[in-house]
Amino acid sequence: MAEDTTQKTGKQAWKKINALKLRLTPENYHVWYAYYEGKSPDIAHAIDMLEKRDGGFTDKDIQNVYNRYIDDRRKDNAVQKAGSQVYDTVIDLSTKIDNVNNANLERGERLSLVSETISGRDTTGELKEILNVVVDDTKEILRDNQLLAKELNRSKQAMATLQQDLENIKKEAATDSLTGLLNRKAFDDLLSETAKQANESKVPFSLLMVDIDHFKNFNDTYGHQVGDQVLRLVASTLKSSVKGGDIVARYGGEEFGLILPKTSKENALKVAEQLRTNVSSKDIVNRSTGKVLGQIKMSAGVAEYKQNESLDDVLNRADKALYSAKNKGRDQVVVASDNLK
Ligand code: GH3
Ligand code: MG
Ligand code: MG
Repeated sequence: MAEDTTQKTGKQAWKKINALKLRLTPENYHVWYAYYEGKSPDIAHAIDMLEKRDGGFTDKDIQNVYNRYIDDRRKDNAVQKAGSQVYDTVIDLSTKIDNVNNANLERGERLSLVSETISGRDTTGELKEILNVVVDDTKEILRDNQLLAKELNRSKQAMATLQQDLENIKKEAATDSLTGLLNRKAFDDLLSETAKQANESKVPFSLLMVDIDHFKNFNDTYGHQVGDQVLRLVASTLKSSVKGGDIVARYGGEEFGLILPKTSKENALKVAEQLRTNVSSKDIVNRSTGKVLGQIKMSAGVAEYKQNESLDDVLNRADKALYSAKNKGRDQVVVASDNLK
């Protein structure tokens, strides 16, 4: 019997993990499985980029791919699930209200029938019977209303809990777990929103792409944990150096993306220079020995959004400016020309 595709893909993933001497973790397996399955162009692209970089794959590299392309998607599903739970609760609640209302409507009709006919009757026995019906129905209405009130209260509490869960999941889905900054997906969404606003208001905004210089050396010399510490320090410095309305995200690896709404490229350049100064003024300290390991240098590319420009184009221009800052010797900011594509 021909080997089924799942098994084949699984074997390819397993072989690759062994060949690269990676650890056989669920994350590594998941990424390589997705790669060989070939249904996810972004995972394929991320792996190809890593491959081109030469220097091999580390567990951390694959973990990054996992975090960005698989974990985030899982969180998206969780958001959808919580959203539909809220919806189900609302539907359930309104069905209950409808049922009680229908029952009350029927009783109401019966009562008005009673009141219409009551005047025509004169024997005490008949009147008593009719009044009993009225009393019974009124009692039932009261009981139903009490039940409904209780039900309403319970549903209100359930809704509040669900709403909170939904908020938490949404926040988590937009956050980069290492640095606490917004992640790439949140950045892309906000970039698209900011561009829309800029097109409407005709006030430009600026985009900043920031990349730590020679970060690989840092990682290789002091290890990944210190590398992670550096990423958190850069993240918090960038965040605390800009205004509240500015957006700071971890774009990937040791690259950060910033959106400065209502800001020209001249002003964005000033902000970027300030960020570079603030980042380089921080010492990287070995936590156990207290020894200063060095300072962090960074390069940045600035691009001002042009009316109705595509997001790809503005990202591309910022990227090219960043690339040229690297080429010119790093530790500097370059502003993208407006007519570059
Ligand atoms: P350049 O000045 O040209 O930017 O050089 P670089 O060394 O900074 O750039 P390169 O792209 O060669 O290396 C980036 C490194 O960032 C390699 C990768 O291991 C490391 N990295 C990416 N994500 C993380 C992470 O989450 N934690 C740690 N510790 N390192 C990471
Ligand atoms: Mg770098
Ligand atoms: Mg980089």
